[in-house]
Amino acid sequence: MANQEDIFKNIISHSKEYGFIFQSSEIYDGLSAVYDYGQMGVELKKNLREYWWKAMVQMHENIAGIDAAIFMHPTTWKASGHIDAFNDPLIDNKDSKKRYRADVLIEEHVAKIEAKIQKEVDKAKERFGESFNEETFRDTNGRVLENQAKIDSILSRFKEALEKNNLEEVRQIIIDCEIVCPVSGSKNWTEVRQFNLMFSTSMGAVSEESNVIYLRPETAQGIFVNFLNVQKSGRMKIPFGIAQTGKAFRNEIVARQFIFRMREFEQMEMQYFVRPGTEMEWYNYWKAARMKWHNSLGLGASNYRFHDHLKLAHYANAACDIEFNFPFGFKELEGIHSRTDFDLKAHEKFSGKKLQYFDTETNANYTPYVVETSVGLDRMFLAVFSNSLKEETLEDGSTRIVLQLPSVLAPTKAAVFPLVKKDGLPEIAQQIIEDLKWDFNVAYDEKDAVGRRYRRQDALGTPFCITVDHQTAEDQTVTIRHRDSMKQDRVKISELKNIIETEVSMKNWLLKAKN
Ligand code: ATP
Repeated sequence: MANQEDIFKNIISHSKEYGFIFQSSEIYDGLSAVYDYGQMGVELKKNLREYWWKAMVQMHENIAGIDAAIFMHPTTWKASGHIDAFNDPLIDNKDSKKRYRADVLIEEHVAKIEAKIQKEVDKAKERFGESFNEETFRDTNGRVLENQAKIDSILSRFKEALEKNNLEEVRQIIIDCEIVCPVSGSKNWTEVRQFNLMFSTSMGAVSEESNVIYLRPETAQGIFVNFLNVQKSGRMKIPFGIAQTGKAFRNEIVARQFIFRMREFEQMEMQYFVRPGTEMEWYNYWKAARMKWHNSLGLGASNYRFHDHLKLAHYANAACDIEFNFPFGFKELEGIHSRTDFDLKAHEKFSGKKLQYFDTETNANYTPYVVETSVGLDRMFLAVFSNSLKEETLEDGSTRIVLQLPSVLAPTKAAVFPLVKKDGLPEIAQQIIEDLKWDFNVAYDEKDAVGRRYRRQDALGTPFCITVDHQTAEDQTVTIRHRDSMKQDRVKISELKNIIETEVSMKNWLLKAKN
Protein backbone atom coordinates (compact mmCIF):
# COMPACT_ATOMS: atom_id res chain seq x y z
CA MET A 1 0.00 0.00 0.00
CA ALA A 2 1.54 3.29 -1.09
CA ASN A 3 1.67 6.05 1.51
CA GLN A 4 -0.13 9.38 1.17
CA GLU A 5 2.94 11.18 -0.06
CA ASP A 6 3.58 8.61 -2.82
CA ILE A 7 -0.06 8.72 -3.89
CA PHE A 8 0.14 12.50 -4.14
CA LYS A 9 3.40 12.32 -6.13
CA ASN A 10 1.74 9.86 -8.50
CA ILE A 11 -1.15 12.22 -9.04
CA ILE A 12 1.20 15.08 -9.88
CA SER A 13 3.29 13.01 -12.30
CA HIS A 14 0.22 11.51 -13.98
CA SER A 15 -1.23 14.96 -14.48
CA LYS A 16 1.98 16.02 -16.21
CA GLU A 17 2.56 12.88 -18.26
CA TYR A 18 -0.92 12.96 -19.77
CA GLY A 19 -1.16 16.69 -20.46
CA PHE A 20 -3.40 17.83 -17.62
CA ILE A 21 -1.17 20.18 -15.60
CA PHE A 22 2.31 21.59 -16.15
CA GLN A 23 4.40 23.75 -13.87
CA SER A 24 4.31 27.32 -15.17
CA SER A 25 7.40 28.28 -17.23
CA GLU A 26 8.92 24.91 -16.53
CA ILE A 27 11.88 25.43 -18.88
CA TYR A 28 13.01 28.19 -16.51
CA ASP A 29 12.62 25.83 -13.54
CA GLY A 30 9.06 26.92 -12.94
CA LEU A 31 7.35 29.69 -11.02
CA SER A 32 6.40 28.78 -7.50
CA ALA A 33 2.71 27.96 -6.92
CA VAL A 34 1.72 28.84 -10.49
CA TYR A 35 0.52 26.16 -12.90
CA ASP A 36 -0.59 25.78 -16.51
CA TYR A 37 -3.38 23.52 -17.67
CA GLY A 38 -2.46 21.36 -20.67
CA GLN A 39 -4.55 20.05 -23.54
CA MET A 40 -6.44 17.57 -21.34
CA GLY A 41 -6.55 19.71 -18.21
CA VAL A 42 -8.12 22.66 -19.97
CA GLU A 43 -11.05 20.48 -21.08
CA LEU A 44 -11.61 18.98 -17.65
CA LYS A 45 -11.43 22.43 -16.08
CA LYS A 46 -13.82 23.88 -18.66
CA ASN A 47 -16.30 21.04 -18.03
CA LEU A 48 -16.13 21.60 -14.28
CA ARG A 49 -16.76 25.32 -14.74
CA GLU A 50 -19.70 24.60 -17.00
CA TYR A 51 -21.10 22.02 -14.59
CA TRP A 52 -21.09 24.66 -11.87
CA TRP A 53 -22.40 27.41 -14.14
CA LYS A 54 -25.34 25.33 -15.38
CA ALA A 55 -26.27 24.26 -11.86
CA MET A 56 -26.08 27.79 -10.49
CA VAL A 57 -27.08 30.11 -13.34
CA GLN A 58 -28.97 28.14 -15.97
CA MET A 59 -31.00 26.11 -13.46
CA HIS A 60 -31.95 29.13 -11.33
CA GLU A 61 -34.22 31.71 -12.86
CA ASN A 62 -33.23 34.18 -10.15
CA ILE A 63 -29.46 33.85 -10.51
CA ALA A 64 -27.67 35.91 -13.13
CA GLY A 65 -24.09 35.52 -14.24
CA ILE A 66 -21.53 38.26 -14.83
CA ASP A 67 -17.91 38.48 -15.87
CA ALA A 68 -16.29 41.40 -14.06
CA ALA A 69 -12.78 42.63 -14.82
CA ILE A 70 -9.82 41.53 -12.76
CA PHE A 71 -8.72 45.14 -12.28
CA MET A 72 -11.02 47.23 -10.15
CA HIS A 73 -10.95 50.75 -8.78
CA PRO A 74 -8.44 50.67 -5.90
CA THR A 75 -10.99 52.06 -3.44
CA THR A 76 -12.86 48.76 -3.83
CA TRP A 77 -10.14 47.10 -1.78
CA LYS A 78 -10.13 49.85 0.80
CA ALA A 79 -13.88 49.35 1.28
CA SER A 80 -13.66 45.57 1.38
CA GLY A 81 -10.94 45.73 4.02
CA HIS A 82 -8.31 44.01 1.89
CA ILE A 83 -5.86 46.92 1.86
CA ASP A 84 -5.88 47.17 5.65
CA ALA A 85 -6.60 43.63 6.71
CA PHE A 86 -5.04 41.40 4.05
CA ASN A 87 -1.62 42.33 5.49
CA ASP A 88 0.97 40.37 7.42
CA PRO A 89 4.15 42.01 8.86
CA LEU A 90 6.91 39.48 8.16
CA ILE A 91 10.32 38.93 9.71
CA ASP A 92 12.95 36.29 8.99
CA ASN A 93 15.48 34.76 11.32
CA LYS A 94 18.82 34.86 9.52
CA ASP A 95 20.14 31.71 11.19
CA SER A 96 17.20 29.35 10.84
CA LYS A 97 15.95 31.06 7.68
CA LYS A 98 12.46 30.68 9.13
CA ARG A 99 9.85 33.29 8.40
CA TYR A 100 7.49 34.63 11.05
CA ARG A 101 4.73 37.12 11.34
CA ALA A 102 6.18 39.92 13.46
CA ASP A 103 2.82 40.61 15.10
CA VAL A 104 2.54 36.98 16.18
CA LEU A 105 6.03 37.03 17.72
CA ILE A 106 5.14 40.13 19.75
CA GLU A 107 1.74 38.81 20.77
CA GLU A 108 3.25 35.54 21.92
CA HIS A 109 5.81 37.46 23.97
CA VAL A 110 3.06 39.52 25.60
CA ALA A 111 1.12 36.35 26.32
CA LYS A 112 4.14 34.99 28.21
CA ILE A 113 4.24 38.07 30.45
CA GLU A 114 0.51 37.78 30.98
CA ALA A 115 1.02 34.20 32.07
CA LYS A 116 3.55 35.44 34.66
CA ILE A 117 1.00 37.88 36.06
CA GLN A 118 -1.62 35.18 36.17
CA LYS A 119 0.78 33.00 38.14
CA GLU A 120 1.23 35.75 40.76
CA VAL A 121 -2.54 36.19 40.95
CA ASP A 122 -3.15 32.47 41.36
CA LYS A 123 -0.51 32.23 44.10
CA ALA A 124 -2.01 35.14 46.01
CA LYS A 125 -5.51 33.74 45.64
CA GLU A 126 -4.37 30.56 47.27
CA ARG A 127 -2.64 32.46 50.07
CA PHE A 128 -5.46 34.86 50.94
CA GLY A 129 -8.41 32.56 50.31
CA GLU A 130 -11.90 34.07 50.68
CA SER A 131 -10.67 37.56 51.47
CA PHE A 132 -8.73 37.88 48.21
CA ASN A 133 -9.64 40.84 46.02
CA GLU A 134 -8.11 40.34 42.62
CA GLU A 135 -8.65 43.88 41.42
CA THR A 136 -6.91 45.43 44.41
CA PHE A 137 -4.10 42.92 44.14
CA ARG A 138 -3.54 43.73 40.46
CA ASP A 139 -3.59 47.46 41.29
CA THR A 140 -1.09 47.26 44.13
CA ASN A 141 1.25 44.28 43.83
CA GLY A 142 4.73 45.43 42.82
CA ARG A 143 5.64 42.55 40.54
CA VAL A 144 2.25 42.56 38.82
CA LEU A 145 2.45 46.30 38.27
CA GLU A 146 5.93 45.98 36.87
CA ASN A 147 4.89 43.28 34.41
CA GLN A 148 1.69 45.04 33.48
CA ALA A 149 3.69 48.18 32.77
CA LYS A 150 5.93 46.14 30.47
CA ILE A 151 2.89 44.83 28.58
CA ASP A 152 1.32 48.26 28.32
CA SER A 153 4.52 49.75 27.03
CA ILE A 154 5.04 47.01 24.43
CA LEU A 155 1.46 47.18 23.22
CA SER A 156 1.31 50.94 23.01
CA ARG A 157 4.64 51.02 21.15
CA PHE A 158 3.39 48.30 18.83
CA LYS A 159 0.06 50.00 18.19
CA GLU A 160 1.75 53.29 17.42
CA ALA A 161 4.30 51.58 15.17
CA LEU A 162 1.53 49.90 13.20
CA GLU A 163 -0.46 53.09 12.92
CA LYS A 164 2.56 54.92 11.58
CA ASN A 165 3.57 51.88 9.56
CA ASN A 166 6.93 52.16 11.30
CA LEU A 167 8.36 48.73 10.60
CA GLU A 168 11.79 49.61 12.01
CA GLU A 169 10.11 50.25 15.33
CA VAL A 170 8.29 46.89 15.09
CA ARG A 171 11.69 45.25 14.66
CA GLN A 172 13.13 47.30 17.56
CA ILE A 173 10.33 46.05 19.81
CA ILE A 174 11.29 42.48 18.94
CA ILE A 175 14.95 43.27 19.71
CA ASP A 176 14.14 45.14 22.96
CA CYS A 177 11.92 42.30 24.13
CA GLU A 178 14.80 39.94 23.42
CA ILE A 179 12.54 37.65 21.44
CA VAL A 180 14.41 34.63 20.09
CA CYS A 181 13.64 32.36 17.14
CA PRO A 182 12.10 29.15 18.49
CA VAL A 183 14.12 27.12 15.97
CA SER A 184 17.63 28.62 16.09
CA GLY A 185 17.33 30.28 19.49
CA SER A 186 19.04 33.37 18.03
CA LYS A 187 18.08 37.05 17.92
CA ASN A 188 19.55 37.50 14.46
CA TRP A 189 16.53 39.10 12.77
CA THR A 190 16.10 40.70 9.36
CA GLU A 191 14.15 43.92 8.94
CA VAL A 192 10.36 43.71 9.08
CA ARG A 193 8.43 43.84 5.85
CA GLN A 194 4.76 44.60 5.55
CA PHE A 195 3.29 41.84 3.50
CA ASN A 196 -0.04 42.31 1.78
CA LEU A 197 -1.35 39.19 0.09
CA MET A 198 -2.64 41.26 -2.81
CA PHE A 199 -0.53 41.61 -5.93
CA SER A 200 -0.24 45.16 -7.11
CA THR A 201 0.78 46.80 -10.32
CA SER A 202 0.42 50.27 -11.77
CA MET A 203 -1.99 51.52 -14.35
CA GLY A 204 -1.12 54.09 -16.99
CA ALA A 205 2.24 55.59 -17.86
CA VAL A 206 2.98 57.49 -14.65
CA SER A 207 3.91 55.33 -11.75
CA GLU A 208 2.80 57.35 -8.79
CA GLU A 209 1.12 55.90 -5.78
CA SER A 210 -2.30 56.99 -6.96
CA ASN A 211 -1.92 54.72 -9.97
CA VAL A 212 -1.40 51.55 -7.96
CA ILE A 213 -4.03 48.97 -8.71
CA TYR A 214 -4.48 45.42 -7.50
CA LEU A 215 -5.10 42.05 -9.02
CA ARG A 216 -8.31 40.99 -7.34
CA PRO A 217 -7.79 38.58 -4.41
CA GLU A 218 -11.39 37.36 -4.72
CA THR A 219 -14.07 37.62 -7.39
CA ALA A 220 -16.80 38.58 -4.92
CA GLN A 221 -16.15 42.32 -4.97
CA GLY A 222 -16.86 42.48 -8.72
CA ILE A 223 -20.31 41.21 -7.85
CA PHE A 224 -20.94 43.65 -4.98
CA VAL A 225 -20.03 46.72 -6.99
CA ASN A 226 -22.38 45.55 -9.77
CA PHE A 227 -25.23 44.69 -7.43
CA LEU A 228 -27.49 47.54 -8.51
CA ASN A 229 -26.52 47.33 -12.20
CA VAL A 230 -27.65 43.72 -12.39
CA GLN A 231 -30.68 44.23 -10.15
CA LYS A 232 -31.97 47.16 -12.21
CA SER A 233 -31.08 46.02 -15.72
CA GLY A 234 -32.20 42.46 -14.99
CA ARG A 235 -35.31 43.54 -13.05
CA MET A 236 -34.28 41.13 -10.31
CA LYS A 237 -36.44 40.68 -7.22
CA ILE A 238 -35.03 39.70 -3.87
CA PRO A 239 -34.02 36.98 -3.19
CA PHE A 240 -31.70 36.79 -6.16
CA GLY A 241 -28.15 35.80 -6.89
CA ILE A 242 -25.22 36.96 -9.00
CA ALA A 243 -22.64 34.38 -10.03
CA GLN A 244 -19.25 34.57 -11.64
CA THR A 245 -16.19 32.51 -12.34
CA GLY A 246 -12.76 34.00 -12.81
CA LYS A 247 -9.17 34.38 -11.79
CA ALA A 248 -8.12 35.58 -8.36
CA PHE A 249 -4.59 36.28 -7.14
CA ARG A 250 -3.04 35.92 -3.69
CA ASN A 251 0.62 36.17 -2.84
CA GLU A 252 0.38 33.18 -0.52
CA ILE A 253 3.30 32.99 1.92
CA VAL A 254 3.26 29.26 2.35
CA ALA A 255 2.40 27.96 -1.10
CA ARG A 256 2.68 24.24 -1.60
CA GLN A 257 0.48 21.21 -2.18
CA PHE A 258 0.34 21.53 -5.94
CA ILE A 259 -2.83 23.22 -7.21
CA PHE A 260 -4.40 23.26 -3.74
CA ARG A 261 -2.76 26.56 -2.86
CA MET A 262 -1.77 28.66 -5.85
CA ARG A 263 -0.82 32.28 -6.29
CA GLU A 264 -3.04 32.55 -9.35
CA PHE A 265 -6.23 30.53 -9.20
CA GLU A 266 -9.83 30.52 -10.29
CA GLN A 267 -12.91 30.94 -8.16
CA MET A 268 -16.56 30.18 -8.81
CA GLU A 269 -18.61 32.40 -6.57
CA MET A 270 -22.25 33.25 -6.08
CA GLN A 271 -23.60 36.03 -3.90
CA TYR A 272 -27.23 35.60 -2.92
CA PHE A 273 -28.99 38.82 -1.88
CA VAL A 274 -31.74 38.32 0.67
CA ARG A 275 -34.09 40.24 2.93
CA PRO A 276 -32.39 40.99 6.31
CA GLY A 277 -33.52 38.48 8.88
CA THR A 278 -33.91 35.66 6.36
CA GLU A 279 -30.19 35.06 5.92
CA MET A 280 -29.96 31.99 8.16
CA GLU A 281 -32.71 30.30 6.23
CA TRP A 282 -30.82 30.89 2.98
CA TYR A 283 -27.50 30.00 4.52
CA ASN A 284 -28.90 26.58 5.40
CA TYR A 285 -30.53 26.27 2.00
CA TRP A 286 -27.23 26.88 0.18
CA LYS A 287 -25.29 24.60 2.50
CA ALA A 288 -27.59 21.75 1.51
CA ALA A 289 -27.76 22.70 -2.18
CA ARG A 290 -24.01 22.94 -2.58
CA MET A 291 -23.43 19.63 -0.84
CA LYS A 292 -25.95 18.04 -3.18
CA TRP A 293 -24.11 19.46 -6.17
CA HIS A 294 -20.83 17.98 -4.96
CA ASN A 295 -22.44 14.62 -4.33
CA SER A 296 -23.98 14.52 -7.80
CA LEU A 297 -20.47 13.89 -9.17
CA GLY A 298 -20.37 10.54 -7.39
CA LEU A 299 -16.98 10.84 -5.69
CA GLY A 300 -18.45 9.35 -2.52
CA ALA A 301 -20.45 11.14 0.18
CA SER A 302 -17.97 10.14 2.90
CA ASN A 303 -15.29 12.25 1.16
CA TYR A 304 -17.09 15.47 2.09
CA ARG A 305 -17.84 17.07 5.41
CA PHE A 306 -18.95 20.42 6.78
CA HIS A 307 -16.62 22.32 9.02
CA ASP A 308 -18.20 25.21 10.92
CA HIS A 309 -15.97 28.21 11.50
CA LEU A 310 -15.46 28.76 15.21
CA LYS A 311 -13.97 32.21 14.78
CA LEU A 312 -16.01 34.29 12.35
CA ALA A 313 -14.58 36.95 10.07
CA HIS A 314 -15.56 40.48 11.02
CA TYR A 315 -18.24 40.59 8.30
CA ALA A 316 -19.84 37.18 8.85
CA ASN A 317 -22.61 35.98 11.17
CA ALA A 318 -22.31 32.34 10.11
CA ALA A 319 -19.71 30.51 8.05
CA CYS A 320 -18.68 26.98 7.19
CA ASP A 321 -16.48 25.12 4.76
CA ILE A 322 -17.23 22.08 2.71
CA GLU A 323 -14.10 20.02 3.18
CA PHE A 324 -12.93 17.28 0.85
CA ASN A 325 -10.79 14.28 1.60
CA PHE A 326 -7.74 15.29 -0.46
CA PRO A 327 -4.69 12.99 -0.69
CA PHE A 328 -3.27 14.99 2.25
CA GLY A 329 -6.44 14.84 4.37
CA PHE A 330 -9.68 16.78 4.77
CA LYS A 331 -9.19 20.38 3.63
CA GLU A 332 -11.36 23.30 2.55
CA LEU A 333 -12.88 22.97 -0.91
CA GLU A 334 -15.68 25.52 -0.69
CA GLY A 335 -16.69 28.26 1.70
CA ILE A 336 -20.29 29.20 2.51
CA HIS A 337 -20.61 32.48 4.34
CA SER A 338 -23.40 34.64 5.61
CA ARG A 339 -21.75 38.02 4.99
CA THR A 340 -24.52 40.23 6.40
CA ASP A 341 -24.72 43.67 4.75
CA PHE A 342 -21.04 44.34 5.43
CA ASP A 343 -19.83 44.62 1.83
CA LEU A 344 -22.71 46.62 0.37
CA LYS A 345 -22.66 49.00 3.34
CA ALA A 346 -18.90 49.48 2.99
CA HIS A 347 -19.21 50.25 -0.73
CA GLU A 348 -22.02 52.68 0.03
CA LYS A 349 -19.82 54.47 2.50
CA PHE A 350 -16.73 54.65 0.31
CA SER A 351 -18.47 55.44 -2.97
CA GLY A 352 -21.16 57.74 -1.59
CA LYS A 353 -23.67 55.88 -3.83
CA LYS A 354 -26.78 54.25 -2.46
CA LEU A 355 -26.71 50.47 -2.86
CA GLN A 356 -30.18 49.72 -1.59
CA TYR A 357 -33.14 47.74 -2.73
CA PHE A 358 -36.77 48.81 -2.68
CA ASP A 359 -38.88 45.84 -1.65
CA THR A 360 -42.31 46.21 -3.21
CA GLU A 361 -43.72 43.51 -0.94
CA THR A 362 -42.81 45.27 2.29
CA ASN A 363 -42.70 48.79 0.84
CA ALA A 364 -39.32 49.32 2.42
CA ASN A 365 -35.83 50.31 1.34
CA TYR A 366 -33.01 48.27 2.75
CA THR A 367 -29.46 47.05 2.23
CA PRO A 368 -29.79 43.35 1.42
CA TYR A 369 -27.96 40.68 3.38
CA VAL A 370 -25.72 38.32 1.45
CA VAL A 371 -25.11 34.60 1.55
CA GLU A 372 -22.03 33.58 -0.43
CA THR A 373 -20.96 30.27 -1.89
CA SER A 374 -17.32 30.27 -3.01
CA VAL A 375 -15.53 27.28 -4.47
CA GLY A 376 -12.04 27.09 -5.95
CA LEU A 377 -12.10 25.67 -9.46
CA ASP A 378 -8.55 24.37 -9.16
CA ARG A 379 -9.36 22.73 -5.84
CA MET A 380 -12.39 21.12 -7.50
CA PHE A 381 -10.06 19.90 -10.22
CA LEU A 382 -7.71 18.40 -7.65
CA ALA A 383 -10.60 16.78 -5.78
CA VAL A 384 -11.98 15.14 -8.91
CA PHE A 385 -8.61 14.21 -10.39
CA SER A 386 -7.08 12.75 -7.24
CA ASN A 387 -10.22 10.79 -6.44
CA SER A 388 -10.46 9.34 -9.95
CA LEU A 389 -6.92 8.06 -10.42
CA LYS A 390 -6.92 4.32 -9.70
CA GLU A 391 -4.56 1.43 -10.19
CA GLU A 392 -6.52 -1.77 -10.79
CA THR A 393 -5.38 -5.36 -10.76
CA LEU A 394 -7.09 -7.26 -13.54
CA GLU A 395 -8.21 -10.89 -13.61
CA ASP A 396 -5.06 -12.01 -15.43
CA GLY A 397 -2.92 -10.44 -12.70
CA SER A 398 -1.81 -7.46 -14.82
CA THR A 399 -2.51 -3.92 -13.69
CA ARG A 400 -3.98 -0.91 -15.39
CA ILE A 401 -4.02 2.78 -14.51
CA VAL A 402 -7.46 4.24 -15.05
CA LEU A 403 -8.70 7.76 -14.51
CA GLN A 404 -12.31 7.14 -13.54
CA LEU A 405 -13.47 10.70 -14.02
CA PRO A 406 -17.19 11.38 -13.82
CA SER A 407 -17.89 10.91 -17.53
CA VAL A 408 -19.67 14.27 -17.72
CA LEU A 409 -16.32 15.90 -16.93
CA ALA A 410 -14.05 13.72 -19.08
CA PRO A 411 -11.96 15.79 -21.52
CA THR A 412 -12.55 13.35 -24.39
CA LYS A 413 -15.83 11.45 -24.48
CA ALA A 414 -14.85 8.81 -27.02
CA ALA A 415 -11.76 7.65 -28.91
CA VAL A 416 -12.17 5.99 -32.29
CA PHE A 417 -9.66 3.39 -33.52
CA PRO A 418 -9.29 1.56 -36.81
CA LEU A 419 -8.19 -1.99 -35.95
CA VAL A 420 -5.54 -1.79 -38.66
CA LYS A 421 -4.18 1.06 -40.75
CA LYS A 422 -5.46 -0.34 -44.05
CA ASP A 423 -8.43 -1.89 -45.87
CA GLY A 424 -10.40 1.35 -45.66
CA LEU A 425 -10.78 1.11 -41.85
CA PRO A 426 -9.08 4.47 -41.09
CA GLU A 427 -11.50 6.17 -43.47
CA ILE A 428 -14.54 4.68 -41.70
CA ALA A 429 -13.09 5.68 -38.33
CA GLN A 430 -12.53 9.22 -39.60
CA GLN A 431 -16.10 9.35 -40.82
CA ILE A 432 -17.35 8.37 -37.34
CA ILE A 433 -15.22 11.15 -35.87
CA GLU A 434 -16.68 13.54 -38.42
CA ASP A 435 -20.24 12.62 -37.34
CA LEU A 436 -19.64 12.67 -33.58
CA LYS A 437 -17.50 15.78 -33.24
CA TRP A 438 -20.47 18.11 -33.55
CA ASP A 439 -21.75 16.85 -30.21
CA PHE A 440 -18.73 15.58 -28.32
CA ASN A 441 -14.99 15.95 -27.95
CA VAL A 442 -13.68 12.86 -29.72
CA ALA A 443 -10.19 11.62 -30.58
CA TYR A 444 -8.73 9.45 -33.33
CA ASP A 445 -5.88 7.05 -32.66
CA GLU A 446 -4.29 4.51 -34.98
CA LYS A 447 -0.89 4.12 -33.31
CA ASP A 448 0.19 0.88 -31.55
CA ALA A 449 -1.81 -2.27 -30.81
CA VAL A 450 -5.44 -1.77 -29.82
CA GLY A 451 -4.75 -2.98 -26.25
CA ARG A 452 -2.23 -0.21 -25.75
CA ARG A 453 -4.57 2.35 -27.22
CA TYR A 454 -7.20 1.26 -24.69
CA ARG A 455 -4.71 1.71 -21.85
CA ARG A 456 -3.81 5.19 -23.01
CA GLN A 457 -7.46 6.26 -23.14
CA ASP A 458 -8.03 4.71 -19.68
CA ALA A 459 -5.21 6.88 -18.34
CA LEU A 460 -6.77 9.95 -19.98
CA GLY A 461 -10.18 9.19 -18.50
CA THR A 462 -12.00 8.66 -21.84
CA PRO A 463 -15.29 6.86 -21.07
CA PHE A 464 -15.66 5.11 -24.48
CA CYS A 465 -13.38 3.51 -27.06
CA ILE A 466 -14.88 2.66 -30.43
CA THR A 467 -13.08 0.16 -32.64
CA VAL A 468 -13.65 -0.19 -36.38
CA ASP A 469 -12.80 -3.64 -37.75
CA HIS A 470 -13.37 -5.60 -40.94
CA GLN A 471 -16.93 -6.47 -39.97
CA THR A 472 -17.71 -2.74 -39.81
CA ALA A 473 -17.23 -2.43 -43.54
CA GLU A 474 -19.81 -5.18 -44.05
CA ASP A 475 -22.56 -4.41 -41.51
CA GLN A 476 -21.95 -0.88 -40.18
CA THR A 477 -21.32 -2.11 -36.62
CA VAL A 478 -18.41 -1.32 -34.29
CA THR A 479 -17.31 -2.43 -30.84
CA ILE A 480 -17.75 0.07 -28.04
CA ARG A 481 -15.71 -0.47 -24.90
CA HIS A 482 -16.65 1.02 -21.54
CA ARG A 483 -13.76 2.49 -19.55
CA ASP A 484 -14.76 1.33 -16.06
CA SER A 485 -16.16 -2.15 -16.73
CA MET A 486 -13.96 -2.73 -19.82
CA LYS A 487 -17.05 -4.46 -21.25
CA GLN A 488 -17.30 -4.44 -25.04
CA ASP A 489 -20.55 -4.37 -27.00
CA ARG A 490 -21.15 -4.65 -30.71
CA VAL A 491 -23.44 -1.81 -31.78
CA LYS A 492 -24.56 -0.04 -34.93
CA ILE A 493 -22.67 3.11 -35.89
CA SER A 494 -26.01 4.91 -35.93
CA GLU A 495 -26.53 4.10 -32.21
CA LEU A 496 -23.24 5.62 -31.05
CA LYS A 497 -24.47 9.12 -30.51
CA ASN A 498 -27.32 7.98 -28.24
CA ILE A 499 -25.15 5.66 -26.20
CA ILE A 500 -22.58 8.36 -25.53
CA GLU A 501 -25.20 11.04 -24.92
CA THR A 502 -27.05 9.01 -22.27
CA GLU A 503 -23.83 8.52 -20.34
CA VAL A 504 -22.24 11.95 -20.56
CA SER A 505 -25.11 14.42 -20.84
CA MET A 506 -24.95 17.19 -18.29
CA LYS A 507 -28.69 16.97 -17.85
CA ASN A 508 -28.56 13.40 -16.59
CA TRP A 509 -25.82 14.26 -14.12
CA LEU A 510 -27.32 17.55 -12.96
CA LEU A 511 -30.69 15.93 -12.29
CA LYS A 512 -28.96 14.30 -9.30
CA ALA A 513 -28.16 17.75 -7.91
CA LYS A 514 -31.68 19.08 -8.31
CA ASN A 515 -33.29 20.40 -5.14
P1 ATP B 1 -7.63 28.89 2.85
O1 ATP B 1 -8.10 28.93 4.28
O2 ATP B 1 -7.39 27.49 2.32
O3 ATP B 1 -6.52 29.84 2.55
P2 ATP B 1 -9.62 30.80 2.32
O4 ATP B 1 -10.53 30.54 3.48
O5 ATP B 1 -8.68 31.94 2.36
O6 ATP B 1 -8.82 29.44 1.98
P3 ATP B 1 -11.67 31.88 0.68
O7 ATP B 1 -11.16 33.25 0.78
O8 ATP B 1 -12.88 31.49 1.45
O9 ATP B 1 -10.46 30.86 1.01
O10 ATP B 1 -11.83 31.52 -0.87
C1 ATP B 1 -12.84 30.66 -1.35
C2 ATP B 1 -12.29 29.46 -2.08
O11 ATP B 1 -11.28 29.83 -2.99
C3 ATP B 1 -11.65 28.44 -1.17
O12 ATP B 1 -12.60 27.56 -0.61
C4 ATP B 1 -10.71 27.73 -2.11
O13 ATP B 1 -11.40 26.68 -2.80
C5 ATP B 1 -10.32 28.79 -3.10
N1 ATP B 1 -8.97 29.29 -2.80
C6 ATP B 1 -8.63 30.24 -1.91
N2 ATP B 1 -7.30 30.47 -1.92
C7 ATP B 1 -6.78 29.64 -2.87
C8 ATP B 1 -5.47 29.40 -3.37
N3 ATP B 1 -4.42 30.07 -2.91
N4 ATP B 1 -5.32 28.47 -4.35
C9 ATP B 1 -6.37 27.80 -4.84
N5 ATP B 1 -7.63 27.98 -4.41
C10 ATP B 1 -7.85 28.88 -3.43
